[in-house]
Amino acid sequence: MENSNAKSLFEKRKKLVPNALGIFNPSTAVRASGAKIWDADGREFIDFAGGIGVMNAGHCPKPVVKAIQEQAARLIHSCFNVSLTENYLLLAEKLVSIFPHGEKGTKVLLTNSGAEAVENAIKIARMATGRQGILCFTGAFHGRTMMAMTLTAKVKNKTGCGPFAPEVYRLEYPYFYRYGGGMTEKNYLALQIRRLKDFFQYQAAPEHMAAVIVELVQGEGGFTVMPPEYLKALRQICDENGILLILDEVQSGWGRTGKWAAYQHFEGITPDLSTWAKSMGAGMPIGAVIGRAEIMDAAHPGTIGGTYPGNPVCCAAALANIQYMQDIDICKKGEAVGKIIRRRFEKMQKKCPAIGNVRGLGAMLAFELVKNGDPHQPDSDLANRLVQNCEKKGLIIISAGTFGNCIRVLSPLIIDKKTLERGLDILEETLLALV
Ligand code: PLP
Repeated sequence: MENSNAKSLFEKRKKLVPNALGIFNPSTAVRASGAKIWDADGREFIDFAGGIGVMNAGHCPKPVVKAIQEQAARLIHSCFNVSLTENYLLLAEKLVSIFPHGEKGTKVLLTNSGAEAVENAIKIARMATGRQGILCFTGAFHGRTMMAMTLTAKVKNKTGCGPFAPEVYRLEYPYFYRYGGGMTEKNYLALQIRRLKDFFQYQAAPEHMAAVIVELVQGEGGFTVMPPEYLKALRQICDENGILLILDEVQSGWGRTGKWAAYQHFEGITPDLSTWAKSMGAGMPIGAVIGRAEIMDAAHPGTIGGTYPGNPVCCAAALANIQYMQDIDICKKGEAVGKIIRRRFEKMQKKCPAIGNVRGLGAMLAFELVKNGDPHQPDSDLANRLVQNCEKKGLIIISAGTFGNCIRVLSPLIIDKKTLERGLDILEETLLALV
């Protein structure tokens, strides 16, 4: 990076931007197409980060660019509450058709981001139930606004920002690799389900609990996957006690797991409310709360909304993007990409003892780096060096996990096989050179 444009941009960043705004990868971006990014020095990169899971349909898909340009030339903003814009409704209709929440009608609230979707889902759940308690999990990441940050588990993501929102409870997310020591997977799961049931004895009465919010594949938490039996128990407890189940699909949605929603992998599971963003808008800031109509309608007038949610340009982008993803069968692509990555990661694990665990769902895949083959000795230093060194070789990739020791792939799902294999080659060669 000596005397490079990228280097001077990072120097400028240091002067102008708060240090706390993280640097997940030491790269810059000037333009992008498909699964590639070109940086401030004209270097070409394979993108395995997708702007943190936003570019499932690839960078700058033509129909999305066209829709944005046309909409921007026609109407950029009116505020949906002031002058209704039709594409908000068209998008809501589309979301309802893909993600019906039960049989009695589904409604949609658009937001500007994933965190804003989470904030609103919690508000709606509290108003609909008249209760306050919210249950969330270790390893959870739900955003950085105040309620979302409260729900987020990782201490590093919230230090010094409290006091946090009250009436938030937390249980251990089933994470067998790290915490199952000495137990069979079956026994560990039975114990976690027992703890879930006992929650209502130790921590809060069911009548106090408004909702449970959970990621079925934890994003920032390191791609830990919810065991189906646990989710089944959770759904049953919610049903029996009038507690709402909120599934956060912000990172796991839109074909990433090989289905439109991660919950579609789990038989018989429909959320009461769900939250969306990231790959919904192909990079435009848009998210959504989707929910059962009677729950969504329980919100009191004036408690939800804002100036920008459902902005016409963002809606146009999301509509064109979803249509494009349907046309190219993004789920099938997600499934195929996932198979290639999993096969490679499992092969790498055999060669490299630093890879303690390979996990994920569909193309939402990660490996966890540990020292001495011990799940209790996370190797975040190795993960960091791997990210830095991959960048030098033309691959943008990011880490994840409470201990920062997971390497995750969130590449565009439209990535061609050759580019994907090349990216995996870089990842493998770099890792093997480091250990
Ligand atoms: N929920 C999940 C599962 C996420 O992964 C994220 C972001 O990474 C969020 C919520 C917050 O979304 P945003 O960054 O758009 O506010």
